[in-house]
Amino acid sequence: MEHKDIHAPHGNKLNTKGWSQEGAMRLLMNNLDPMVAKDPANLIVYGGKGKAARNWEAYDKIIESLKSLENDETLLVQSGKPVGIFRTTKEAPRVLIVNAQIVPHWATDDVFWDLEARGLTMFGQMTAGSWVYIGTQGVLQGTYETLYALAKKVYHSDNLKGKWFLSAGLGEMGGAQPLAAKMNGCTSIIVEVDMEKINRRLRDKYLDKYTKTLDEALKLKDEAIKSGEPVSIAVLGNAATVYQELQDKGIVPDIVSDQTAAHDLNLGYVPEGYTIENFQKFREEHPEQFKKKVYETIVKQVKSMLYFQSKGSSVFDYGNDIRTRAKEGGLSNAFEIQGYVPAYIRDLFAVGSGPFRWLALSGNPDDIRKIDEAILKNIDDKHLTDWIKLAGEYVHFQGLPARICYASYGEREKIGLMINDMVRKGELEAPIAIGRDHHDTGSVASPYRETEAMKDGSDAIADWPILNALLNAVSGASWVSVHHGGGTGIGNAIHSGFVIIADGTDDAAERIKRVLNADPGIGVIRHADAGYESSRDIIKKGPKFKSPYFSK
Ligand code: NAD
Repeated sequence: MEHKDIHAPHGNKLNTKGWSQEGAMRLLMNNLDPMVAKDPANLIVYGGKGKAARNWEAYDKIIESLKSLENDETLLVQSGKPVGIFRTTKEAPRVLIVNAQIVPHWATDDVFWDLEARGLTMFGQMTAGSWVYIGTQGVLQGTYETLYALAKKVYHSDNLKGKWFLSAGLGEMGGAQPLAAKMNGCTSIIVEVDMEKINRRLRDKYLDKYTKTLDEALKLKDEAIKSGEPVSIAVLGNAATVYQELQDKGIVPDIVSDQTAAHDLNLGYVPEGYTIENFQKFREEHPEQFKKKVYETIVKQVKSMLYFQSKGSSVFDYGNDIRTRAKEGGLSNAFEIQGYVPAYIRDLFAVGSGPFRWLALSGNPDDIRKIDEAILKNIDDKHLTDWIKLAGEYVHFQGLPARICYASYGEREKIGLMINDMVRKGELEAPIAIGRDHHDTGSVASPYRETEAMKDGSDAIADWPILNALLNAVSGASWVSVHHGGGTGIGNAIHSGFVIIADGTDDAAERIKRVLNADPGIGVIRHADAGYESSRDIIKKGPKFKSPYFSK
């Protein structure tokens, strides 16, 4: 079978025996669409080597299985490979996926990647192996929410007007920073060592301006703040050098972070004195010196970040492990910088809010626009509706049209039922797939990111994502996944996901009610259990679940 230029079928005609199977097939194909995937030829969707299926043979067999799968059968996917089909029930998920699980003692990079190289397992990241990646919109929205939550917490405001943000890295994820800042009214200076990355972001309109020097960038920043019109500016250079230069000038940004790929010491971080063109040659020829130089540069950059923090900047680690690297490089106080989840996003997770999303199986962008309009009309949440308006203006669809928003406990069910109703009434061309990232309220244990610094110290407790997956399965999600290692790498995270298809039937409405109550509900319980008052308040108000400890 030809594996080039994979695109999900569009329209409202089934190629399978039911919309759950159809949704799974279309979203798997969408994950490998060249407009969506990072390296489709190698089945890599995003995030290092986050894959959608183990190999092309496994991919073909998954598609074949989905095409013939009955409405009371369940397909089992073991690390990207379809291994069995069982008669279950109509209410059960059509697909169960488990990716990259390793017995804890063996859950190290060395063991995992050796097994992976031998074709025995697959790294599924979060939404790659669980077939619900939506391209850049996901990180754009996440970064928008992080900066918005910062505005709320630090400035007690719903925007960052008049503030400026210093960061680095305009890669796959980091490239969303300038636009996300601008959407919050914030001016940004982003340092990037690779001119091609700057050009790409200028072309995509994720970035407004480019300068060769920090002085020029500072001038543009001052003008932007004076005029009240936020501007995003890239400076070509090494982050460590530019951060130090700023420190030497005694200029302190309002907000500081970093999105170089510092987690990857081989390929992700360019040491000072080298360029994007020659740093790999240096690594190949002098691996030990290279490593030393990378650590030195990271330590220098993080020292400046600590300096800015000491002078009043809001500084956060944005999930790229730069603190760990700096600590390994000898900077013992690197962890004085907070991770973005405990600093800002935890308050959202505590009320069951997180990256909720939906994709139009029709392939028709109008289906998403109609849902946007319905949300603007029916959902009473200014922040959510502000985002929907901004997304409509700025987001270009990649592959199947999709929308993401942070929706909380209660809102998700309301939006899900509203979408199902629109499908039922024939207002949309075809059913809608509703799901979320694994980076969510009750679905992840990841002590360097989502569950860093939990109030009760339960950071590494991984019962929650497993309970979440089991609960979503028995509640009737269309497919459910449990993964290991997404976001922060092998050994560092266990997480789960689901997708439910809204096909307009009464049966789908009942499932949506159950799943979109249960899924954020367990997030509320997880946070209540860890001591978060806002979660306990929700439970006291009598949600559609009970808690033996916190219900009245
Ligand atoms: P990427 O490899 O696509 O981009 C990294 C960029 O940093 C590149 O453009 C590179 O040229 C630039 N860079 C490297 N060293 C530099 C230096 N010293 N100075 C200036 N620029 C430099 O990576 P990405 O996909 O954008 O991800 C960035 C990081 O964010 C990764 O560590 C990733 O794991 C992490 N991440 C965070 C989240 C989150 O939710 N916060 C999500 C996914 C990934």
